[in-house]
Amino acid sequence: MILYGKVVADKLSDEIIEEVKELNQNGVYPKLVIIRVGKNESDLSYERGALKRAEKLGIKAEVLELPNDISQDEFINCLDKVNKDSSVHGILIFRPLPKQIDENIIKNYINPKKDVDCMSPHNVAKLMEGDKTGFSPCTPSAVIEILKHYNIELKGKNVVVIGRSMVVGKPLSMLLLNEDATVTICHSKTQDLKEITKRADIVIVAIGRAKYLNKEYIREGTIVIDVGINVDNVGNLCGDVDFDDIKEIVSAVTPVPGGVGAVTNTILFKNLIKACKK
Ligand code: NAP
Repeated sequence: MILYGKVVADKLSDEIIEEVKELNQNGVYPKLVIIRVGKNESDLSYERGALKRAEKLGIKAEVLELPNDISQDEFINCLDKVNKDSSVHGILIFRPLPKQIDENIIKNYINPKKDVDCMSPHNVAKLMEGDKTGFSPCTPSAVIEILKHYNIELKGKNVVVIGRSMVVGKPLSMLLLNEDATVTICHSKTQDLKEITKRADIVIVAIGRAKYLNKEYIREGTIVIDVGINVDNVGNLCGDVDFDDIKEIVSAVTPVPGGVGAVTNTILFKNLIKACKK
């Protein structure tokens, strides 16, 4: 089975549209501000997708574009204005930020109530505690939504997550734990990775290495979720999984493009509605 993301995003979008209508009837107009420093191509591509999705959902989304050489203090001033603007319910800051701006400082400045991509330590702590009043980060939540949509049981299952970044691997592992999965987190220093992944019911890869995971890593019937977004040696978009190599032996796999990435920006707006209601 191929686990397409579009059907999941469409279903979530229908729910969001209904919620937006209800909020509008009460005089509330959900609004997202995207803060982008410079013109990084992958940021611009994500931004285009998010703006298109916002329009479809009837949500206001604005981009605050800041110059590449902006100082940390100036950045904080701009963020502070958006934090305080009562017409704004959610803020997304594209990362990584340029070198002169320390993300470890900025993450403490974003208003936790508007932190729809879970950058603030406040929301990260809630995620660790399994406290659902915070915001969970978009990509890990997209993985969970896909698994749930396709009725893939997580309770008691052996799930191996490859990658331990704060954007994907670590928060995703916490979300899986909250779903009662037995989670193993692997990374670049993991020994005998193939032995570990071969014991898994579900393997989730988020390492940023084009077509890395092949059939040597999995046993027959495994479910594979590919979070990676890479460009292969002929310039095509591909995941961290060698899709053609594994497709005959897995029981289900997400494609790239059209898998996890297709759901991520819808989660952003799901979180925005949550912020709005709060
Ligand atoms: P990252 O910050 O570079 O982290 C990569 C992680 O993978 C690290 O924990 C690293 O281990 C581990 N790793 C690297 N090579 C490995 C190997 N050979 N074996 C085992 N582990 C290895 O990347 P990221 O931000 O988490 O993103 C990962 C991928 O997901 C990228 O392709 C990115 O483009 C994609 N992504 C997709 C979405 C989406 O919406 N679909 C969103 C965000 C990111 P160490 O910690 O030991 O270095």
